Amino acid sequence: MAAECPISIRQEIVGRCNEALQNIRQACIHADRDPAEVTLMAVTKTVPPEQVNAAVAAGIRVLGENRVQEYLSKKEDYDPDAEVQFIGHLQTNKVKQIVGNVTLIHSVDSLHLAQEISKQARIKQLVQPILLEVNIAGEASKSGVSPNALPDLLRDVLQLQELKICGLMVIPPPFTDPCTADRIFGEVNALYRKMQAIAPMDTLSMGMSGDYTAAIRHGSTMVRLGSALFGKRVYPPKP
Ligand SMILES: *Cc1c(COP(=O)(O)O)cnc(C)c1O
Repeated sequence: MAAECPISIRQEIVGRCNEALQNIRQACIHADRDPAEVTLMAVTKTVPPEQVNAAVAAGIRVLGENRVQEYLSKKEDYDPDAEVQFIGHLQTNKVKQIVGNVTLIHSVDSLHLAQEISKQARIKQLVQPILLEVNIAGEASKSGVSPNALPDLLRDVLQLQELKICGLMVIPPPFTDPCTADRIFGEVNALYRKMQAIAPMDTLSMGMSGDYTAAIRHGSTMVRLGSALFGKRVYPPKP
């Protein structure tokens, strides 16, 4: 495991984690939901492992990774009490390094990618749990399958024996007002229910630092928080 980080930073992260857990409980109570239905994921991009481990010490048990290389360089230093999931855009040539090493891949958005994951899972003789990523607002700059194409993708991916489809993931456009957040999360919720009629699923990965309480109101079962736990991200200069 990694070296401890300075006590002040550690305390700050633990404090933010406790606050987020408290906010999640409150949002669940307001929405008449059981707080046990909602998992808090700590999103670790750019965060040093010793700071990630402070979040694990605060009780967070799921870590979210965006980049394959960054994950591989940090994973040995993570507290083994937490499981790791993959939330970033996944290139087919890197699938091999991820399959079997993470408990859930959130970002499957094409049959081609699903087939590659299935192929690698077969080689490793395992079943890989996945989510289908939906591009709810049809943003050209973002990955994710369009809501219209989702049912066909779901039916196709269901044929792949080595994949277990657990649910949906969404990264909505940045919201400028709470009404838009409610409308979009409501649309995702309706889509999720429709897909549950095609295949059993229990995971809706929705909500980030700026909007997670709204996401919980609309049925999210996993919120992915980065800056709310670790502070503003500082990206290293591009190599
Ligand atoms: C970075 C990231 C997050 C967390 O974003 P914050 O706004 O810092 O909470 C969540 N999900 C995905 C897919 C991300 O890339």
